[in-house]
Amino acid sequence: MGSRKARRGIGRRALLIGGGAALVGVGVAAQDDARRAWWRLPGMEKKRVEGELDHAAAQWTAAARANWRRADRPDDYVIDTVVIHVVQGSYRTAVRVFKDPGHGAATHYVVGKDGRVAQMIRELDVAYHAGNREVNERSIGIEHEGFVDRPEDFTAAMYESSARLTADICRRYGIPVDRKHIIGHVEVPGTDHTDPGPHWDWDRYMRLVREAVKAPAKPTPTPTPTPTPTPRTTTAD
Ligand SMILES: [Zn+2]
Repeated sequence: MGSRKARRGIGRRALLIGGGAALVGVGVAAQDDARRAWWRLPGMEKKRVEGELDHAAAQWTAAARANWRRADRPDDYVIDTVVIHVVQGSYRTAVRVFKDPGHGAATHYVVGKDGRVAQMIRELDVAYHAGNREVNERSIGIEHEGFVDRPEDFTAAMYESSARLTADICRRYGIPVDRKHIIGHVEVPGTDHTDPGPHWDWDRYMRLVREAVKAPAKPTPTPTPTPTPTPRTTTAD
């Protein structure tokens, strides 16, 4: 989990006020640029759909607004890191605390022992999970159900599901699949957290991520075509 020391972004209200002021200042010459990249103005945001998923296999359940910061990644911050966490608790506990505005931290995703994946924060946004502002801004955080001292918590279903998620993230942002870019919370500079701990099988995990990156994208199930009664016509071709 992330440290409570994670720095909060500017308040929503401050952003809105700043946005209004910035708009007044936009000159005619800048209007064309502004039309094309209006969300880059201070306080402006790209349109987003409530509950929209970045990882198709996930289920959306929103984290508390206090546990992340609005952003427009990868336009404002490059995403080049995935941070692996272990929650020291159950899947339900992770989801519950990430919905608690007093917690001050949350990851983008939570993966359960049974392989289920919750997305709680959009990848566009900066989640407070690494306890390091710069790492938060450039990373996506994945929390895993279980305890660092219980290797049996790290099930095959969890490894596989999490690896597919990380592979999906790496594919979408062009992140190299290596241990420089896929790191444990313990490896974040300045952290006092030890997760995912010594029992997290990095060799196994990285092999699964590499396999999933190479695997062709899962074909989306095609709905059974409704038979349309086509009139039988006899044509020359
Ligand atoms: Zn952690």
